[in-house]
Amino acid sequence: MNKLDAQRQKEIQQAEELLFAGPQALGFAKGLFQGHFVADWVMPYPRIPAAQQPELDGALTKLREFLDEHLDPAEVDRKADIPRSVIDGLGRVGVLGMTAPKEYGGHGFSQMANCKILEEIGRRCASTSVFVNAHHSIGIRALLLFGTHEQKQRWLPKLSTGEQLGAFALTEKEAGSDAANVQMQARPSEDGSHFVLNGEKRYITNAAIADVLTVMARTPVPGSDKTSITAFLVTPDMPGFEMLDARMPKMGIRGTATGRFALRDVKVPKENVLGPYGKGLKVALTVLDFGRTTFGACCTGAAKTCLRLAIEHANTRKQFNKTLGNFHLVQKKIARIAADAYAMEAMTTITASLIDRGLEDYMLETAMLKVFTTERLWECINDVFQIYGGSAYFVDRPLERMMRDARINQIGEGANEVLTSFIALVGMRGPGMEFKEIYDTMMKPTRERGFAKAWTAGKRRLGATVRVPEIPVRSAELRWFANQLGRLIWRFNVAVNRALITYREPILDMQLLQERIANAAMDLLASACVLSRQDDELQFAQRNGNSSSPDQLAADLFLRQSFRRIRQFLAGLTNNDDKSVLATANSILGKPGK
Ligand SMILES: Cc1cc2nc3c(=O)[nH]c(=O)nc-3n(C[C@H](O)[C@H](O)[C@H](O)COP(=O)(O)OP(=O)(O)OC[C@H]3O[C@@H](n4cnc5c(N)ncnc54)[C@H](O)[C@@H]3O)c2cc1C
Repeated sequence: MNKLDAQRQKEIQQAEELLFAGPQALGFAKGLFQGHFVADWVMPYPRIPAAQQPELDGALTKLREFLDEHLDPAEVDRKADIPRSVIDGLGRVGVLGMTAPKEYGGHGFSQMANCKILEEIGRRCASTSVFVNAHHSIGIRALLLFGTHEQKQRWLPKLSTGEQLGAFALTEKEAGSDAANVQMQARPSEDGSHFVLNGEKRYITNAAIADVLTVMARTPVPGSDKTSITAFLVTPDMPGFEMLDARMPKMGIRGTATGRFALRDVKVPKENVLGPYGKGLKVALTVLDFGRTTFGACCTGAAKTCLRLAIEHANTRKQFNKTLGNFHLVQKKIARIAADAYAMEAMTTITASLIDRGLEDYMLETAMLKVFTTERLWECINDVFQIYGGSAYFVDRPLERMMRDARINQIGEGANEVLTSFIALVGMRGPGMEFKEIYDTMMKPTRERGFAKAWTAGKRRLGATVRVPEIPVRSAELRWFANQLGRLIWRFNVAVNRALITYREPILDMQLLQERIANAAMDLLASACVLSRQDDELQFAQRNGNSSSPDQLAADLFLRQSFRRIRQFLAGLTNNDDKSVLATANSILGKPGK
């Protein structure tokens, strides 16, 4: 086996272990790749249970009052610090332990309710929302999900109130996008009482202000010369913990403390192993599922701020004797921000509900949410920036800060390119395996059982390609959109099948093709979420005798634009300049003939 094959083999093994352990029900995103509309994952549109709504309303009111009075996002950015009084206040209003169980000092909120809280913070200040995410969405998440009762009892009460802060430390110099390549070592002591940790972590939010850090390190696999990753609870008072850079100066989200630290022969008691030994990568990726949902909520909040700012300016600023809102090229931008903000909220709510319902495998949906909302927010900010013209460029407006702050979203918690490729490859795995089965069996036609299996798989594949899935909307006004969506899912499935048959294994490296497939899948999920939300709102309006609202128009627009994009992505699978793009890049990079 050459080096490249060995690396590919290792990657496949890791992905198998992480993603496909055990039998799994077909989720919505995976269903799309097979031509199915797994309706009960997205419909009916999830609502906060009536019994929990007053508690959420109360928490939101308290939070808004606190933020109105005490949070000054411009000052946080200018001073590159979130004042301790603000952190303490967030702790007092419950934000730092929203989803922790009540028995450990938290509020026991669902992920959906928590997303409403993060949306509110994301509307105002990205530094603060990233700080809360680093502490609550990922910093203490491994403890909440995988901690033993003793660990939770010991650590959570102070972390839930903000008396202590948490951080999540995965990234290292050699382990950025390649998260599995963690180099920090954790060697078990001879008496088995503790582990000795050595290595460095970088770009860690809250590192310098955290009292407890979830740290990923490499541990030996007993009985072999291999290693795997394990999660540990580390505290900065442990001898050998060295803060190398407490606040790395940076472009945006300046209020957050992003740090670099080293562990030098740090003795971590065995009681601090978090989750199953050797399964740290799975722990980390499960934690990031939660982080990506609240990421979506923060982006939704920021997109709503973009919309508010755009409306304010378009209705007041006059040029050529007209307010800007009279120009179609300004209207186009405002309509698109409204449409995208509507979709981002719908997608966040539905993805959070998958977690709350305890469904099994929503890794594709959270990855899609992260990529989709961060890319849309970037567009929203760019559009509102343009509407404000020169005035956007000056620091007395929030827009230059919002733009600096938003840029990290496409990089952090999984760079969007990495997630895009992941979405396409994991999505295509289902149909790909079936094709492989058919192909392998056709190569060995004498094996009767194999042939029967291939026949079944073939029929299933064919069945999916001839049926347009039904989208069960209740509102007659949405029937046309539902039919269009069904047809697009069918076309998507045909396109995926065709790509798999045409390119076979080399498709694993064809990222330009993967991007189009992933983009189409993301728009299909976003459209399904929008349709679900719109259906719910129309039904509610009909029951209460209300007429159509601006939201309904924004939802209609989103669906039209999303459907158009999907058609373009699918058309690009066969009509593109990929060869020329790659030839140019390879030649510039000094890799001719690749
Ligand atoms: C402000 C900030 C806060 C952070 N907070 C935390 C934290 O709290 N905890 C933590 O563990 N980490 C944190 N990170 C780290 C963050 O998750 C990483 O920066 C991110 O995963 C990308 O890793 P990298 O920076 O090493 O980029 P690299 O891995 O070097 O990637 C650089 C670029 O290369 C491209 N690329 C990489 N791989 C591929 C591929 N397979 N296909 C196509 N393109 C590819 C992408 O465009 C990517 O953006 C933070 C980072 C920042 C900047």
